[in-house]
Amino acid sequence: MSHTAEIIAVGTELLLGNIANTNARDLSQSLSTLGVNVFWHTVVGDNPERLREALQIARGRADIILTTGGLGPTYDDLTKQTICQTFGKRLVLHPDILENIRLFYESALHVPMPENNTQQAELPEDCVIFDNPVGTAPGCAFESGGVHVLMLPGPPHEMSTMLRRHVEPYLRKLSHDAIISHDIMTFGMGESSIDQLLHEKMSHMTNPTLATYAKPAEVRLRATAKAPTAEEAEAMLVPVLADVRRLLGDVVYGVDVANLAECCIKELLKAGLTLATAESCTGGMAAEKITAIPGASKVYRGGVVSYWTSVKANALHVPQEILDAYGPVSEECARAMAAGARKATGAEIGVSVTGAAGPDPDERGVPVGIVFVGLSTPNGQFCRKLDFGRRRRDRIQGLAANHVFDVVRRWLTGLPVESF
Ligand code: ATP
Repeated sequence: MSHTAEIIAVGTELLLGNIANTNARDLSQSLSTLGVNVFWHTVVGDNPERLREALQIARGRADIILTTGGLGPTYDDLTKQTICQTFGKRLVLHPDILENIRLFYESALHVPMPENNTQQAELPEDCVIFDNPVGTAPGCAFESGGVHVLMLPGPPHEMSTMLRRHVEPYLRKLSHDAIISHDIMTFGMGESSIDQLLHEKMSHMTNPTLATYAKPAEVRLRATAKAPTAEEAEAMLVPVLADVRRLLGDVVYGVDVANLAECCIKELLKAGLTLATAESCTGGMAAEKITAIPGASKVYRGGVVSYWTSVKANALHVPQEILDAYGPVSEECARAMAAGARKATGAEIGVSVTGAAGPDPDERGVPVGIVFVGLSTPNGQFCRKLDFGRRRRDRIQGLAANHVFDVVRRWLTGLPVESF
């Protein structure tokens, strides 16, 4: 039987538009891969009457209700109490949880626990407890009249930690089937082109399914299969992954990798090579993307943000003749910057990016959206010229930073670098 879920986010801040409901987004994404149909997102303020109303409606149309927020220690954190009243449950104090919260305050926050935190150690009778290693409020779940109610904290990092550790395993147990998903990551082809290539295939699929999620310049395809065992589900996905690779070719850069930067780290590790960056128009975005990934230090030596021409000349040894003859936004400069990154850091591979991010053309009249990505390797130099047109400055910068890693991963995997 497939399950139907409703997500109720509790918080007046959400209704006022002070924050976006990212918890509902993250929960929905996770539930869809578990084969749970999310049919409703509800948002209510910190108001017990309206929360009770929302819960009554939800229990009439869903068999899984997930709430986020309102588990804190303050007077307006009323989710637990209201849920218990609505479902006729008693709240029970757990001394061991209280002790953990006290310890969290003393050892992690170095302050004594305020007394009103005691209510966070009270949980509905007969519930499954979800511990919270990154905060104080534990979550919990219970079943009542065929409806599963799961309560999670509001802060997104606490919610997502609990989601992976407790909610996903809890929901998996409700289904007799194993559900397996793989993310096929692509770069360089728009969502509509991918859709055209895969439409025929996707429109007939029910199990496994294939769904697309687009981000600027990147499209993630999620293939999901449901079967009595995980092995069977995995086996069902093998031909789907192969078909997608065959139809999309080398725009597929990986399966179950987070992004292009992580893909580069893996390929650099495999090849035993190190990387350095030289950035101009992206202002360090590429360095930020790669250093965001744990373990980057094994392969990433460092980078130079050479915004001024004098820094390109002094820190990256770009010859003055190149800067004078071709200007800082040029193929020649990009190649020299990439070589300079290697020289400055000792890395085997140097990658550079220079371009006109706008809103005005560069001082030599290079139009907005022109970007050069240079690559210097032990086997030669390359340059990819891009024309992003008159897009917004931050979009041009984000796209350019992704191309930096696409150029590197293509070179490392033996693919053409300058075209894509
Ligand atoms: P706390 O113990 O921190 O009070 P809580 O479970 O009571 O946790 P809330 O007080 O409702 O949670 O929310 C805490 C913070 O978490 C909010 O200020 C907001 O920044 C963030 N938050 C709450 N709900 C959401 C949501 N649905 N999406 C994104 N962020 C949220």
